Amino acid sequence: MSDRSRIVTIDGPAGAGKSTISRLLAKRLGFAFLDTGAMYRAVALAAKRRGVPLDDEGAVAALLNTVDLRLEPVGGGARVFLDGNDVSGEIRTAEMGPAASQVSALAPVRQRLTELQRAIARSGNFVAEGRDMGTVVFPNADWKFYLDASPEERARRRTRQLAEQGEEADYNAILAQIIERDRQDASRALAPLRPAEDAVIIDSSHMSIEQVVEAMLAIVGRSIPIPQQAVEETGNHGR
Ligand code: C5P
Repeated sequence: MSDRSRIVTIDGPAGAGKSTISRLLAKRLGFAFLDTGAMYRAVALAAKRRGVPLDDEGAVAALLNTVDLRLEPVGGGARVFLDGNDVSGEIRTAEMGPAASQVSALAPVRQRLTELQRAIARSGNFVAEGRDMGTVVFPNADWKFYLDASPEERARRRTRQLAEQGEEADYNAILAQIIERDRQDASRALAPLRPAEDAVIIDSSHMSIEQVVEAMLAIVGRSIPIPQQAVEETGNHGR
């Protein structure tokens, strides 16, 4: 294995299972995990807290110069800090997904976060998850995946997940939100959501999390050895 950083990219629409799968794959490979959606969510949260309109490019650009956004690795994931405060929970509310999607269409936001993501990735081997990892941020990544699932299946998973957390979950409303966020992410001018030409596309609609991780490991494992210890530690995940 060479000395330079290795990068696996996983792009795809909201609710395709990217976070869970990226985390597990990173653990199995002994790589770190880079959750770029969390960064867009943190910018949206900063704008919301300071009363900056999410579609005001100038005001959001000015805001970017004054916020301190940091990711700190913790046990296979990362905590997100905004101006020194841990906002890892707050960025996950239902409201912040569409808000992140809105600020992510702005050029200064994409430029700043792209630079930050590349700087972070220089520090080691990463599984980087987002919408434009394989197309824009890491075009020379070692392995590229595009994880998809039907909107209906993604809405079912999200409904189940919210219900398990004791939150109110209406399948039809969630399906409508998923379709709208896909539209917004795929139709924007900058770094639209789409598979890189050299990405392996995996449709997880009828696959378990383990099956997807195994399919990815089989591809990555053709070129580098998979650490045996990590396999033993994490090989037994329930769905
Ligand atoms: O993946 P997650 O739902 O956390 O992402 C929130 C939003 O951030 C996405 O809907 C998308 O608009 C934006 N995003 C992006 N590029 C990335 C990651 C996320 O535009 N690399």
